[in-house]
Amino acid sequence: MAADIDLLIRGGSVVDGTGAPARTADIAISDGHIVAIGKVEAAATRVIDADGAMVTPGFVDVHTHYDGQATWDERLQPSAQHGVTTVVMSNCGVGFAPVRRDHHEQLIELMEGVEDIPGAALHEGLAWDWESFPEYLDALERRPHDIDFGTQVPHGALRLFVMGERGANRLPATAEEIAEMGRLAAEAIEAGALGFTTSRTLNHRTSRGEPTPTLTASRDELVGIAAAIGRTGAGVLQVISDFPDFDDEWTTLRAMMRTSDRPLSVSLSQVAHSPTAYRTLLDLVSAANDEGLTMRAQVGSRAIGVLVGLTSSVNPVQPCPSYQAISHLPLDARVQRMAEPRTRSAILAELIGDPRSLATRLHRLYVLGDPPNYEPGPEDSVGSAAARAGRADAPHETLYDLLLAGGGTNLLYLPIFNYVDGNLDAVAEMLAHPHTIPGLGDGGAHVGAICDGSFPTTLIAHWGRDRTRGPRFEVPWLVRRQTHDTAEALGLHDRGVLAAGFKADLNVIDMDHLGLGLPRMVYDLPAGGKRLVQGATGYLHTIVAGTEIYRDGAATGQLPGRLVRGPQQPKEQA
Ligand SMILES: [Zn+2]
Repeated sequence: MAADIDLLIRGGSVVDGTGAPARTADIAISDGHIVAIGKVEAAATRVIDADGAMVTPGFVDVHTHYDGQATWDERLQPSAQHGVTTVVMSNCGVGFAPVRRDHHEQLIELMEGVEDIPGAALHEGLAWDWESFPEYLDALERRPHDIDFGTQVPHGALRLFVMGERGANRLPATAEEIAEMGRLAAEAIEAGALGFTTSRTLNHRTSRGEPTPTLTASRDELVGIAAAIGRTGAGVLQVISDFPDFDDEWTTLRAMMRTSDRPLSVSLSQVAHSPTAYRTLLDLVSAANDEGLTMRAQVGSRAIGVLVGLTSSVNPVQPCPSYQAISHLPLDARVQRMAEPRTRSAILAELIGDPRSLATRLHRLYVLGDPPNYEPGPEDSVGSAAARAGRADAPHETLYDLLLAGGGTNLLYLPIFNYVDGNLDAVAEMLAHPHTIPGLGDGGAHVGAICDGSFPTTLIAHWGRDRTRGPRFEVPWLVRRQTHDTAEALGLHDRGVLAAGFKADLNVIDMDHLGLGLPRMVYDLPAGGKRLVQGATGYLHTIVAGTEIYRDGAATGQLPGRLVRGPQQPKEQA
């Protein structure tokens, strides 16, 4: 007898993405969609026994930078290993289309500088068989992927395309140039871009150290582009800003939302120089929603920091001349030399002598541990480890030994944003706010020192089960944040919920074993470029459009992921 359905996920504890409590149910899937949930008797081609496991919608990560990787790699790791079945890329105003032939180098320098993706890898990896944004979408679509991915039109590329050098040099756009950027942005949205993104932060610089082209774009320019997008009736707006003048910036953002009637999201984290400013912005987001605007803040699910070590781009001994003399050596030879007493004392003396060294912040630099602990306490700092080892007066020695651990692969954790208080209480507050969505993991970016594409695993495991240093959240609510709420924010109404008619993107999770693997450096980018990767445990099955892509952490080789063009609606039920 022929099977009635393609796949039956039987007897799982279904956490459906709406925030409703878990319920035991079967899920029937056919033609890439969910066809029934409840007690299902139909015959299936394949059955997954989910008894004792949690079944959730696939995670939707709205803030990634896979723009380069998606052109050369079928696997959007590390996201795909963390239950993510849809990523949205081209955030923060950087990306690779539209582009003129003679601007390839500049877009690479912008991406390399802003997002720490090796320029050599981008040079070798990008085929540049596109010019317009619609052509870029066609190029992306030619290659199948493990998970779905959506794009946005980046303001940096748009500015360079329309204004040339004047755009790169941050000169004001003329009325004609604003109109042309608006026209091209609308064209991109109509071809399937999910939004428009821009950066107004001094933290974003090209690899030459120049500020990002969009840093000082005028209100007229931003509002003009937003208005053109508004006329398409689709697309979201994404902004990262330093808010140098709070009221002035808010006037600009409000005008963008008002003229376009499109949703806008801003990046939000806690910063050391103004540890409570995030509350001011949260209040402003609430006020915007109160006046009928759709505004959200994107927030991290843990601190945003760097991983520090000999293999990382952030290496405390890198500035030391005695280290530089051996830094060309392969890792194992380097570690051997560093263990020799003479080299050791020379590097240590230089380390201690450098007042700007990372080694002056040993109470803020943490041993990551295995499994990695992203909410470390004071007792986990390198300084505390030194004190315990009776080396309180020589903590650099402890740092040095930690760098050499694991054959030189050991990584230490330096939280930068969201960890001013030495814990994640600020993150709890941001996550709990009604107008935030989880984001900022930057999957595919900052690959030399950050691996935050694993945020979704932290969100569910740490905040739902592991956290001991403060309140936790209910798992169904956390799941909703990373599924329904993120999908809805980008207009992807066909996913993020387990219900008939929705896309069959799901995770079957062993909640008892859900957790993070250790981040590690691999050298598999084009041109031998390095990137951090991080696995996870507990994802028993990850399914995209009814096809299993990961089983127990291993890729199945199936590539059902597709480019998502424009907003989506669930399938009508027959
Ligand atoms: Zn970003």
